[in-house]
Amino acid sequence: MNVLDLVRPSIKALKPYSSARDEFKGVPKDMVFLDANENPFENGVNRYPDPQQTTVKGLLSKLKGIPVENMLLGNGSDEVLDLIYRAFCEPNIDNIITLPPTYGMYSVLANINAVSIKKVLLSEDFQPQVDKILDIADSNSKLLFLCSPNNPTGNSFSSELIEKLLTEFKGVVVIDEAYIDFADTPSWIERLNEFPNLIVTQTLSKAYGMAGIRLGVSYASKEIIQVLNNIKPPYNVNELTQQRAIEQLKDEAKIKEQIQSILDERTALIEELKGISFVSEIYPSDANFVLAKVDDATRRYDELISKGVVIRNRTTQPLCENCLRFTVGTPKENKVLINTLKLI
Ligand SMILES: *Cc1c(COP(=O)(O)O)cnc(C)c1O
Repeated sequence: MNVLDLVRPSIKALKPYSSARDEFKGVPKDMVFLDANENPFENGVNRYPDPQQTTVKGLLSKLKGIPVENMLLGNGSDEVLDLIYRAFCEPNIDNIITLPPTYGMYSVLANINAVSIKKVLLSEDFQPQVDKILDIADSNSKLLFLCSPNNPTGNSFSSELIEKLLTEFKGVVVIDEAYIDFADTPSWIERLNEFPNLIVTQTLSKAYGMAGIRLGVSYASKEIIQVLNNIKPPYNVNELTQQRAIEQLKDEAKIKEQIQSILDERTALIEELKGISFVSEIYPSDANFVLAKVDDATRRYDELISKGVVIRNRTTQPLCENCLRFTVGTPKENKVLINTLKLI
């Protein structure tokens, strides 16, 4: 399979916008920049940001062990996911496959892009039903979304099942690894070279503690990255975001420490939930949240809200009847949660 054959004809033919900063890249200090119609008076943000986010990518490259040419950054992974739709899915013709219960944005983005959705429920133990997925796929099924660890269930998908889908699905497989830093399983970015149809998306919004700056990443072959680069808005990651990301990514030790604290707290939270009378099942988690089944999710949700604790009610999701999703907070926040659960 040549993955470029899956790209929309109009996108393949596109001549991308060439920005001032694309055309002159070197930034020697003594140059006079009169090419981008910026206000010349220095205030820290009067210049356009680096359209290729070279410094941020360099740090990520070191951290993740992936060459810069295999990554694309976006305004949150939501922008990255939208770019993937626009690169591969012809409106009103193509379709995508999602595996509910899962992240809601895949369907929303499909609707925005006029792309139809084929849904194949996860199995009872929240794993992809590979045969059903391959059966339902047709020649217009361009994207298959695998969220692993999955939101809202919290589990990782079996690597054998993912590998089978990567080899047998005839479109692009997008593995959303928003929660990978909390998982035991290795990231699929390590195997990019084996699968030309693989795109892995990650984010700085969860483990890296930067939801507020909006920075998402996709990792893929250079060919796919080139296509996504051609269609992204020229300055899609703003200067303040780049500066803040650089600052945080340099402090890897702090991030590692926070992740460890969240993992310890996840274990403690699961133990405490076992002692709550109305909790009937706690699902295994490879993420920074825990899904649990209770007697009456909407009632418990409302009771928690009235006591000042906000969690997520997932009861309307398929296979998640009466399920609540608890994000792991600080030790203090988790104590408040548990004390409140004991009270209601
Ligand atoms: C939170 C989350 C994201 C993150 O999206 P951003 O736009 O990067 O904040 C992506 N995918 C899943 C499954 C998530 O839960």
